[in-house]
Amino acid sequence: MPISFEGQVAIVTGAGNGLGRAYALELARRGAKVVVNDLGGERDGRGHSDAALAVVEEIRVAGGEAMADGGDVSDFAQMEAMVARTREAWGGVHVLINNAGILRDRTFAKMDPADFELVVRVHLLGSAFATKAVWETMREQRYGRVLMTTSSSGLGGNFGQANYGAAKAGVLGLARTLRMEGAKYDIRVNSIAPTAGTRMTADIFPDEAYNAFVPEAVVPAALFLVSKDAPSDAIVGAGGGVYQGAFITMNDGV
Ligand code: ADP
Repeated sequence: MPISFEGQVAIVTGAGNGLGRAYALELARRGAKVVVNDLGGERDGRGHSDAALAVVEEIRVAGGEAMADGGDVSDFAQMEAMVARTREAWGGVHVLINNAGILRDRTFAKMDPADFELVVRVHLLGSAFATKAVWETMREQRYGRVLMTTSSSGLGGNFGQANYGAAKAGVLGLARTLRMEGAKYDIRVNSIAPTAGTRMTADIFPDEAYNAFVPEAVVPAALFLVSKDAPSDAIVGAGGGVYQGAFITMNDGV
């Protein structure tokens, strides 16, 4: 039986692009009402201001239900507001996929401390704050599925990614504690490590490879990890094994 999210509400952070967008579309296709979170305005510096709205439109055209949220994951008050709006509209939150992310790759010798802080804020604090914002709702419901996005950089390190690797190792520690504290309330917390095929690695991938990797290798694994029958405390690697950091390092003269 295909996995269904009928009657469920899902929040996907950083869902205006890439993998987050793919998660949102597939959750909606399988019946979930989806909050498509991504930074509003020009705050991401990449001109994604309308990205979340465009994904919402795509979902609606396909007959699904979605709403956009412009909250910054690294701002807890904005995450609380997102969850409050979601509960008001749809009554609860069953699934949270922490996908928002940002890269500032540079060898450690040349890394600006501000870029270390930014990457840790978005990935580690962002995952903690978005999860904290849904936690009470999931406890009340006695049901919740949370997916953390970690990385091979967090598991084994990677050239040029001291900031990102540290944040992603932290995300794993967060997941492992939360799955213990959530167990009593049937809140299951898992992690996925998409090592390639995301937009973050698109610079080194031809478009065809990128487009093939995302839906085929990563989305089904992620969807299983937030489904009713999900395990808890799994770390699933999906997507391949090409490291952007190695390329950065070559060009950065370690
Ligand atoms: P991937 O395909 O690996 O998910 P992307 O860079 O396409 O990589 O997606 C990451 C998304 O996260 C982007 O759309 C970006 O705008 C979003 N994002 C970055 N920082 C934040 C943040 N602080 N809050 C919410 N979304 C964010």
